[in-house]
Amino acid sequence: MTEGDGLQAVPEDWQRALAVVAHPDDLEYGAASAVAKWTSQGKWVGYVMVTKGEAGIDGMHPDETAPLRVKEEMGSAAVVGVDTVEFLDHKDGVIEYGLPLRRDIAGAIRRHKPDIVITASFHLKWPSGALNMADHRAVGEAVLDAARDAGNRWIFTDLIDEGLEPWNGVRFVAVAGSPSAAHAVDVSDHIDVGVASLLEHDAYIKGLGREFDPNSFLKDNASWAGAEMGVDYATRFEIINV
Ligand SMILES: [Zn+2]
Repeated sequence: MTEGDGLQAVPEDWQRALAVVAHPDDLEYGAASAVAKWTSQGKWVGYVMVTKGEAGIDGMHPDETAPLRVKEEMGSAAVVGVDTVEFLDHKDGVIEYGLPLRRDIAGAIRRHKPDIVITASFHLKWPSGALNMADHRAVGEAVLDAARDAGNRWIFTDLIDEGLEPWNGVRFVAVAGSPSAAHAVDVSDHIDVGVASLLEHDAYIKGLGREFDPNSFLKDNASWAGAEMGVDYATRFEIINV
């Protein structure tokens, strides 16, 4: 792969995106820089968290962690121009791929009528080769399926009873953190905002119990992707047409 022609630009001829991920912070490891770019272009982006991330801090009880992480995610979203953040309240750490999850996500897609959907990787492994966690795998697959379910009025008919008409408008799902990414977004002018959005997860990062530098983590990853795109900084996505 030669420099500059390795990654194709993610199409940006759309107006509304809905990002659906398992946990507060999942979008902030790269995708948020792209979100910052898109909202600066006047696009609408909304966030849906499947859980409140309540099992994410070892030294803190879930009852205490949940409201803290909700607050951190809302702060993080605000930094990149997102003011709609919803929580589906599935149980953190034990999310099950299944019809209830697909239904809840399909409902969110019908409610917000996005042109594209953003999620995090459903693959077994991260690009590094390390194991991706079960919650991410379950949610990523359910998002792909729900993007299609949202358009079928004969699936989850209770959504119709709630006034949520079918939505067939999702063009593609952009998957962050995928080992199969062939696309990327030039985030050279937005990487610092992306770093700021990750820094909002202060309690979570402190609770990791190890050294973690959000600035170098995000900039190293984005500069490697940028080199493949011929720009300073980029965020990779796998694009799956629905
Ligand atoms: Zn996560």
